[in-house]
Amino acid sequence: MKKICFALGVFFSALQATASPGDSAHLRRMANTILQKGTAYENLRYLCKNIGPRLSGSANAQKAVEATARMLKAAGADTVYLQPCMVPHWVRGAKEKAIVYVAGKPTALKVCALGMSVGTPTGGITAQVVEATSFEALENMPDAAVAGKVVFFNYPMRPELVSGGYGDAVRYRANGAVAAAKKGAVGVVVRSVTHALDYNPHTGTTRYDSAVRKIPAFACSTLDAEWLSKALKTGPAPRIFLQSSCQMLPDAPSFNVVGELRGSQWPLEIITTGGHLDSWDLGEGAHDDGTGVMQAVEVIHAMVASGLRPKRTIRAVMFMNEENGLAGGNKYAELAQTQGENHIFAIESDAGGSGVVSLGLTGQPQQVAKVRTWLPLLKPYGVLDLPDGGGGADINPLRKLGTFTASLIPGGQRYFDHHHAPNDVFEAVNRRELELGAMGMAAICWLVSEYGL
Ligand SMILES: [Zn+2]
Repeated sequence: MKKICFALGVFFSALQATASPGDSAHLRRMANTILQKGTAYENLRYLCKNIGPRLSGSANAQKAVEATARMLKAAGADTVYLQPCMVPHWVRGAKEKAIVYVAGKPTALKVCALGMSVGTPTGGITAQVVEATSFEALENMPDAAVAGKVVFFNYPMRPELVSGGYGDAVRYRANGAVAAAKKGAVGVVVRSVTHALDYNPHTGTTRYDSAVRKIPAFACSTLDAEWLSKALKTGPAPRIFLQSSCQMLPDAPSFNVVGELRGSQWPLEIITTGGHLDSWDLGEGAHDDGTGVMQAVEVIHAMVASGLRPKRTIRAVMFMNEENGLAGGNKYAELAQTQGENHIFAIESDAGGSGVVSLGLTGQPQQVAKVRTWLPLLKPYGVLDLPDGGGGADINPLRKLGTFTASLIPGGQRYFDHHHAPNDVFEAVNRRELELGAMGMAAICWLVSEYGL
């Protein structure tokens, strides 16, 4: 008898591991819901237009917490709850100024303070500008050539890199202030991290080292960077006036927002789908990452409105504070651990709302192989590949607990045109691309909920 039970068990688990023709019908139902009466686009419009930018610790971030909790309830989540976490609270203050004087003639630059930067003294600073095209170039300058000046890091995103250009160039935004201060500079202006040549400054976190003086850090638009570089090469040494009033306030209370659909058979096996709710403050945080959170809400809506009940628990999570601290992602994993939860799978959408082309996967080889057998079910919705390498800043802390992590990978060549910039607005998002991304998330979450990993 025991032997028969064992054999039956193996038989059923083998059956369970294999996708059936019924799956494509279930996925079709969810796709019809998303593409015919999806909520992601209108929810995104609300988030962008009625709330707007959602910097951690701000009143808008709190409004977004309340709004997305309502959206998750409206989507049909069984339970919606908040996970408290303390977040850094940086404020930009008054609009920044940067004026370059060449032979006394003023030219205003389009700049923004970098996130987490200190402000300038109240009256601003005026100093000579010195250009560095790389950290090495700065290092090779005598300290006396840098001391008391403003360092202008002019490192364009490398066009020959199809991917990875951001990671390569963002080092200057992240670490430029420390490198410049070590040489005695009084301020730093970094070329915005984007391939686009325009007048949009792109913000993002800059870092300080407690052992090095904190100097005010700015980003200038790429066209201004081109102009300033030329002015430095052709004319008399320019001077720059910089003014900002940003500051760090004490940490503020905030929340992750969680909406749950309880699994019908294995409710203790948890599948997380999410994006981050906070954003930078120059635009509306549409592609970064309003689209990701609205796709996660849509996963719940698509299942409920299609009459589908997952076998395992699905959680849509709006993570707080990805941009400048990761407090929400860390808190989520910490609670998962202390509460002894079994997180089998997590997928994040945080690469913009453009058309999805693939889902990146990071898990045990046999799990990855199992997920890859589902590719034919995903292809009709634009997921063309399941490459190695998945996760996201907010769900990577879960990976350390053994969770399989995945990421939605859109065709990303335009992402950095908008990233952290004033033009990251609702109008930059295409409805169908957003919805097909939501379908990619819903489809993989559904298949994991049916077959486990
Ligand atoms: Zn993001």
